[in-house]
Amino acid sequence: MNTNDINSIATLLSAPKAIVIIPHKNPDGDAIGSTLGLAHYLKKYNHNVTVIAPNDYPHFLKWMPGEASIMKYDTQKEASDELIKNAELIFTLDFNSLSRIGDMEDAVANSKGIKIMIDHHQQPDDYAKYMYSDVAMSSTCEMVFNFIEMLDDVSKIDSDIATCLYAGIMTDTGSFRFPSTTSSTHHIIGTLIEKGANNSEIHNHIMDTNSYERLQLLGRALSNLKVIPEYRTAYITLSQEELNTFNFKKGDTEGFVNYGLSLEGIIFAAIFIENHQENIIKISLRSKGDFSVNELSRAHFSGGGHTNAAGGKSDLNLNDTIDKFISILPQYKQDLKA
Ligand code: 5GP
Ligand code: MN
Repeated sequence: MNTNDINSIATLLSAPKAIVIIPHKNPDGDAIGSTLGLAHYLKKYNHNVTVIAPNDYPHFLKWMPGEASIMKYDTQKEASDELIKNAELIFTLDFNSLSRIGDMEDAVANSKGIKIMIDHHQQPDDYAKYMYSDVAMSSTCEMVFNFIEMLDDVSKIDSDIATCLYAGIMTDTGSFRFPSTTSSTHHIIGTLIEKGANNSEIHNHIMDTNSYERLQLLGRALSNLKVIPEYRTAYITLSQEELNTFNFKKGDTEGFVNYGLSLEGIIFAAIFIENHQENIIKISLRSKGDFSVNELSRAHFSGGGHTNAAGGKSDLNLNDTIDKFISILPQYKQDLKA
């Protein structure tokens, strides 16, 4: 984001405005942390700020300061439409295409509100007047910190803002271990702890709220794990029936895909999760090194994301989706062959 853009945004923010902040559908820790962190910051200037999520998010995020005030578009459509229509500014956080907000897409596209994107996903669409897009960033939360810093306002960061931003950086970096974690990330984390983020408590909130059933589901996922050594690939399947058996709740499968990637020698991991309600197979893809799951997902599974973490979906049934997945691996043999 250049100085001109920052100056223009600073001018826009110099008088109280009606502001809506939006994360992507099925929001994760970075999406909720960044939207709430930014909301807490903007409220300090008496803006009228509302975070509207396309839909609900997992239990392990329902402790963040301000979380209870997040509106959900799927259950509060009318009130949300009104706020979006009347918004003077719309911040879109942690996504790069309006298709990522599902049923909210038209309302946001049609709003006259000035759009500001803050995001770290690859190949962003061109819908926002102001774009702070940087694929090298660990997380949108790190970018919200930078955004506040560009506005020369780090001194305004309080423990609520710090807590939200810490939580998103932590979740999007796999607790500070993915390659996108830089010394700047750690410097920012240090500042956030100084500002009142309680690192140990945040880790407990996010990591140590398992239900017994979720651990049993993980057990099933691990026993379903398959390895294709010649392509250094591992994948997990979970059928709707298996999810039902273990009383699946939103967020229960978060992180399962990483177990495939933790196998020695494996550089590509996937999880395929049957979703009868949406009539799709939801896919999460992870990789190590240069192999781009963003490209693979865009090419074959109507998705996208980052080089090493992407998502997508399939309209085929679970078995046919797996067959398709296995059949495309030879196209990537250059990267994947042992
Ligand atoms: P996850 O596998 O954890 O759902 O998502 C991994 C990354 O890919 C996240 O950055 C997420 O925003 C992105 N992502 C997940 N699903 C989709 C999708 O259907 N389309 C696109 N473009 N990105 C996705
Ligand atoms: Mn993110």
